[in-house]
Amino acid sequence: MTTPFTKLSFWGVRGSTPTVDPSTWRYGGNTPCLELIAPDGTQFILDCGTGLRMLGNRGALPNAGASGETHILVTHYHWDHIQGIPFFAPLYAENNEFHFYSFRSKFLGRDSLKQVFEAQMAVPYFPVDMSAMNAKRKFKEVGGGDTFRIGENEITTAWLNHPQGCLGFRIETSAGSVVYATDNEPGDAKLDQSLRELAAGADIFINDAQYTPEQLSSTRKGWGHSSWLDGARVAKEVGAKTLVLFHHDPDSTDRIVDTILKHAREEFDSVFAASEGMVITLGAPGERVETHMPGSRTALRREAHFRARVCGVTEGGHAFEEDTVVRDLSLLGALISLKHSPRLQSELQVTMETPGVNGMERMQLRGYVVRIDGEAEKGQTSVGVVFTD
Ligand SMILES: [Zn+2]
Ligand SMILES: [Zn+2]
Repeated sequence: MTTPFTKLSFWGVRGSTPTVDPSTWRYGGNTPCLELIAPDGTQFILDCGTGLRMLGNRGALPNAGASGETHILVTHYHWDHIQGIPFFAPLYAENNEFHFYSFRSKFLGRDSLKQVFEAQMAVPYFPVDMSAMNAKRKFKEVGGGDTFRIGENEITTAWLNHPQGCLGFRIETSAGSVVYATDNEPGDAKLDQSLRELAAGADIFINDAQYTPEQLSSTRKGWGHSSWLDGARVAKEVGAKTLVLFHHDPDSTDRIVDTILKHAREEFDSVFAASEGMVITLGAPGERVETHMPGSRTALRREAHFRARVCGVTEGGHAFEEDTVVRDLSLLGALISLKHSPRLQSELQVTMETPGVNGMERMQLRGYVVRIDGEAEKGQTSVGVVFTD
């Protein structure tokens, strides 16, 4: 299968540990895992965090590549980059073939990644034995500064500044270049320089943005991570086209990531915050990239007809205000005031009346009660519902 573009999908974007708190839902809670399909059909997976499970479960087997093989580049052996491996269903299917690339850890020695597989699935940490993993697995040792080819794509690696070591990868495809540099702390002159060489002129530069510049200069110094500001500086300096902020801190709520993104956009033109489900396509070297958020994460939609006033900022940075009609609404939930007090975690049917083209129209939704706040004096209960269909 060949296409004229490179497709990069984000399956996990959270650093350190997965999060399932509702306040981190929008950007997503799975730990690092990316998928890159190159124009020649080669399929790459970058890191094996918990996002890998979702990638494996999406129906079709992952090896969309022309060769029927998948190439998995692993940056390092911290839990958040390997913990999806035992839950990656395609590893248990005999016909699949995986090529793993990672470095020789001085703590593990030869066949480091193979040992990581075995250790993760050893008793008493995991119920299934390694022998159940039937897919063909090949391991290749790579080190910083290496360059090699996979299909028609050239891969370059660089050491990053991170406790126990970490590799950054550059994948040069015929439709542009992607640099993946997560888990890296600026401040080591030699490694800072090799990051700049790796990222030079990249179409997509994915960089660790776990901490704010304030945290990085105080409480989080030495923890092995970077900030949006360092990413923006490097992107500017080396002429990267688009910066993607990655490895969000588990304590960063969606609102915090929004703020981080806002600051980064004041510093550099083209910035996105990595978000689970985000897909970036690269058309050709030098062309503008396209970023999409697939519908699956905003699937709960209803036709509506609300008059609305919209205030915002244009692409060119100008504030605008406009009256319009909302016709398609994504519904997550509502806060409703009731005289009755429904049971927590029970279902509610909510019917709303909206003025449509043929008079009043009804919009009926099933809700699930997630919160009840009684206001005794007014005899009213404030009920939080999440819409389930
Ligand atoms: Zn990490
Ligand atoms: Zn790490």
